[in-house]
Amino acid sequence: MSYEPAPTRYDRPDFHRRTGRSGLQLPIVSLGLWHNFGAVADFANARAMVFRAFGLRDTPLHLGDNCGPPPGSAETTFGRILAQDLQSHRDELIVSTKAGYDMWPGPYGEWGSRKYLLASLDQSLRRLGLEYVDIFYSHRPDPATPLEETCGALAHAVRTGKALYAAISNYEAQDTAKAAALLREMGAPCLIHQPRYSMFERRPEHGLLEVLDREGIGLIAFSPLAQGMLTSRYLEGIPKDARAARDPRFLKPEQITKDKVATVRKLDAIARARGQSLAQMALAWVLRKPVVTSALIGASTPGQVEENVAVLEKLAFDDSELAAIETVLSPAH
Ligand code: NDP
Repeated sequence: MSYEPAPTRYDRPDFHRRTGRSGLQLPIVSLGLWHNFGAVADFANARAMVFRAFGLRDTPLHLGDNCGPPPGSAETTFGRILAQDLQSHRDELIVSTKAGYDMWPGPYGEWGSRKYLLASLDQSLRRLGLEYVDIFYSHRPDPATPLEETCGALAHAVRTGKALYAAISNYEAQDTAKAAALLREMGAPCLIHQPRYSMFERRPEHGLLEVLDREGIGLIAFSPLAQGMLTSRYLEGIPKDARAARDPRFLKPEQITKDKVATVRKLDAIARARGQSLAQMALAWVLRKPVVTSALIGASTPGQVEENVAVLEKLAFDDSELAAIETVLSPAH
């Protein structure tokens, strides 16, 4: 397959949003490489998804050091695609990685120490074959490490040019405010926060969104489709090739209850009435708040990437649609 991105990929300026009060704009849909990009995944399919994401609308790529399986192998896969096909497009790409979850045995292989974060970043860069990543995240707060040390490591990564921006993920509102102050003092302002946020996971609405707005930090919502539950994937049972069948460690079949499917059916009806798929409506819903910069999707086929990027065609909600969604969701939270 020879790769040629669509010349029209920048023809919709509304596909990008400014990230908080930074100078960086991000596409409203980003592609995460958590599933379907590891060593056991089909390389041709992974490559086709990256092409679709980048070629259609310059969708940035999000990795995590522990994405696999085995951990780290999604970075190796992406490094291979970069080297083969995307070398000449490096400056058009936003590539992110994180450190925080278990990567190697012993006390220096996870959490938030300077020792671990900087070693993990170096390993990610080697796997990716890059000199720098655009965004480097602390993947989770570490209750046993002073926040000053974790933020100091992020700021060091920025100062040494191994990352252009510092970011955090899974931090609660209070720790986010503290990290924002520390990173600003250290000269590496926090660019963006990556929490789980979807119609089925609304925790960020209890304080975090306000902190991000006040601090001028962007938000990139991970699992905006609730790992596929907020799509038509499970309306007729669990397909053999779906995440809940293939990788039940992360999406357990028992999570797909009758009640959940009934809720999804009602949401699907609202989406159809809006003239879009449920996946698209779920993404538009996350993006309805201006503080949200991007929805960080996963995908198992290039067609899913294409469908999700087309959320751009209908982002706005009217009040009655939002009220109808609240009514459907209200028993769930
Ligand atoms: P989503 O909620 O977007 O779920 C993705 C899954 O939904 C796909 O694998 C696919 O499932 C299904 N899907 C996607 N689009 C469609 C569609 N149009 N129609 C039908 N089904 C669809 O996100 P993920 O849970 O994959 O997470 C996204 C990214 O978030 C990760 O890659 C990672 O970068 C990041 N993340 C960050 C975490 C953190 O702690 N910071 C934790 C977890 C994720 P199927 O495979 O069944 O086809």
